[in-house]
Amino acid sequence: MPSRKMLFSTVAIVLCLSFSVSAAEKKSKDAKADEATKPSYEMPQPATENLDLTMYQRIRDEGLSHSHVMEFASALMDGIGPRLTGSPNLKRANEWTRDQFAAMGCSNAHLEDWGEFGMGWRQLNTWVRMSAPDTAVFIAQALPWSASSHGPVNGRAVWVDAKDEKDLEKYKGKLAGKIVFFGEMREVKPVDKPLWERRDDANLKTTAEFPVHIAQQEDFFATFVKRLEFREKAGAFFAAEHAAGVVVPSRDGRNNGGSGGTIFDDSSGGMGWFIYQREHAQPLPIVVMAIESYGRVYRLLKANVPVSVEMDVETEFTGDHEHGFDTIAEIPGSDPKLKEEVVMVGGHLDSWASATGATDNGAGTVVAMEVMRILNALHVQPRRTIRVGLWTGEEQGEFGSYGYVKQHFGFVPLSTAPDQVMLPDFMRKPAGPLQLKPEQQKISGYFNLDNGTGKIRGVNLQENAAIGPIFQQWIAPLQDLGVSTLTMRNTGGTDHEAFDAVGVPGFQFIQDALDYGSRTHHSNQDTYERLQPDDLAQAAVVEAIFVYNTAMRDQMLPRKPLPHPELEEQRKAALKNLMPGAEAAEEEAKKPGN
Ligand SMILES: [Zn+2]
Repeated sequence: MPSRKMLFSTVAIVLCLSFSVSAAEKKSKDAKADEATKPSYEMPQPATENLDLTMYQRIRDEGLSHSHVMEFASALMDGIGPRLTGSPNLKRANEWTRDQFAAMGCSNAHLEDWGEFGMGWRQLNTWVRMSAPDTAVFIAQALPWSASSHGPVNGRAVWVDAKDEKDLEKYKGKLAGKIVFFGEMREVKPVDKPLWERRDDANLKTTAEFPVHIAQQEDFFATFVKRLEFREKAGAFFAAEHAAGVVVPSRDGRNNGGSGGTIFDDSSGGMGWFIYQREHAQPLPIVVMAIESYGRVYRLLKANVPVSVEMDVETEFTGDHEHGFDTIAEIPGSDPKLKEEVVMVGGHLDSWASATGATDNGAGTVVAMEVMRILNALHVQPRRTIRVGLWTGEEQGEFGSYGYVKQHFGFVPLSTAPDQVMLPDFMRKPAGPLQLKPEQQKISGYFNLDNGTGKIRGVNLQENAAIGPIFQQWIAPLQDLGVSTLTMRNTGGTDHEAFDAVGVPGFQFIQDALDYGSRTHHSNQDTYERLQPDDLAQAAVVEAIFVYNTAMRDQMLPRKPLPHPELEEQRKAALKNLMPGAEAAEEEAKKPGN
């Protein structure tokens, strides 16, 4: 007979065991329940993608043999025209795209307000000529949000040589009634390399390699914004001195493309980052001039020849508090379990104003429209909802996509310190961790096109390693269309960044450059003629297949770990107390107890 003590301990052990058995059972049940409620992007991904090659072929046939992408292109570029954010044309483009999506069979086609932008503006007409010592017709256009000259103004030209506020002092009392030529003449090199280039194998190979640079990169934007701060002050100074108008030279493009009639009329020639806001508005008429036109006046002035210039800048302001809108439309999901989940596709609808914004980003817009048309024409029954987003305000800071993402998925609170609120949002420091909304768990991915009219050659994986093997399988049947390359590289400067910033897989495709950087990007030559029909048709097919695959697979696309922008500074700070033999830093020595 066991002793009382033994009995007790046996009971205790049995009790204990039974307790731990039920705990283990509970734990495994919890884990199962957890698995069930876990978003599918957190679960292990299948090694093999279940591809519907019949659908690949149907999409190819609809997009390559029955393309309508150039009809969308002509209607948008020729029919509506430039689409500067805040302008009446952009409003028309928002409404037209919404109506087109509805007409092709999309559901829920509507506009979403992302907030107040600034001034509505359009250029009605601009001409600039030299009236003495000779007559000459110049190539020039109004800088966006330039004031109107209210009829022609004629004045002596003065070259203002100023790199900072101190340099402006010497022009006090000397500019009244003058046409200010503001900016150094640059070297105009011959166009001895092609302006129009496809990526060759060597280029794609380099693109596939991830560049490692651990040293702190120079902050290009900080320098750019500083320069614009000075230019805003310079513009105010010219106005206070009663100058009649301002002329700035056009910048250059890739492979010396900024010549021969091409002008780049964007914020590079700008007189302040926030020039579109009434409180930063420039009071004088300002034009961007072709470098050869600028050069002639510049050389004459340098040689002390009196030059007179006449300019007429007819611009119209259509409101001080215009809001920005995104065009949104859907093909609803059909799987009861998955239809609340979405895959998104898009690009930006807004453009600059000196041409019709065909490659930036009419191309991305009409391709997204063609993607939706193809999928509607094929009557696809996607498991997840397919949603298109056409963003606006991209050129001034990706406002439309960030606004949409903030309203639906999440945002990073931004510092409101006085030195921070002066900066464009994308330069402001975070004030805390990411704030997420429930919809953030329901979006599988976003696909963007905004690098011109060139066809798709692959995908920038945006450092999402888990997506590589998936996309590798998706592009295998697309090799014959030239889609071959995946790179871990991040690419920036467009709307997929808004999604990436809140932990949603967002991708910009790798595209052939063609003449995007050399001639079309933000230029007066960005017209319908620059669009390459075959490239756009290819891009629509590839993008439609990516969207379709995302909508149909069992799981959502795998994600990177959530970003923590609020920890960046701390993670980059130098390690402390590292160097053997180093004396304690002063503040360390001052601490009590030291
Ligand atoms: Zn763009």
